[in-house]
Amino acid sequence: MLKVERLSARYGRVIALHSISFEVNEHEIVAIVGPNGAGKSTTLAAITGIVAPSGGSISYEGESLIGLAPERIVRRGIALVPEGRQIFASLSVAENLQLGSTSVEDRSDARDDLERTLERFPILRTYYRSSAAKLSGGEQQQLAIARALLSRPRLLLLDEPSLGLAPIMIDTVFETFSELRDTGVTVLLVEQNATRAVALADRTYVLRTGRVALEGTRDELRRTADFATEYLGSTSAIPSTERPGS
Ligand code: ATP
Repeated sequence: MLKVERLSARYGRVIALHSISFEVNEHEIVAIVGPNGAGKSTTLAAITGIVAPSGGSISYEGESLIGLAPERIVRRGIALVPEGRQIFASLSVAENLQLGSTSVEDRSDARDDLERTLERFPILRTYYRSSAAKLSGGEQQQLAIARALLSRPRLLLLDEPSLGLAPIMIDTVFETFSELRDTGVTVLLVEQNATRAVALADRTYVLRTGRVALEGTRDELRRTADFATEYLGSTSAIPSTERPGS
């Protein structure tokens, strides 16, 4: 579905990505993990047209995304939940959600989508007319995900969704990603929380200073001593399956 080949990106003299390659197949959850400054956000910015790559290719459903404006990329079915959620605190929950559906032309479809979204995230119905500022961090994350889903993405990109959330809220949010995959949405998840991301994802890429240092399935990474010691502390730190709430 998404194929990134030898992608490079720079900010002036700072090289953020050195020729990285990875792919995401339809109906997968793929994670990109790595420490601060590894290039995770830059990777998502390049896919969504926010940062122009200095080299390499990004193809989505067989067509290049390079040079397309961000709004055209959204129309192709790719939505980003940015780091720090970036919801509009001065607007109501309802108004924040409306912003997500602006690219859907048929308004009755948009209303049906909204109803389904409120069923998925009941807390957003409870606070529908309230200011988004009243929501907790986890609830704001749900709002940011809901807003992205209202653009009807086939590929959902998430930048550090666990950041600043209590463990119980991380369970709730990560459970949503498994459910989304079951409804046909493909997920590319960027996380510093490697333990949680690897446990959830079908496959994971480890980025280190702008390069793919390791890649594999959960079980392959479990067997990779490097990964376990550098990113998780020990091999026992990767659960064999993701069990939200356990
Ligand atoms: P974090 O979790 O801290 O966001 P990250 O893995 O997402 O880290 P990036 O934000 O993609 O990493 O940063 C990759 C590199 O590019 C880092 O060296 C960072 O300092 C640099 N960088 C990122 N954004 C900019 C910018 N706007 N201007 C200059 N350098 C930048």
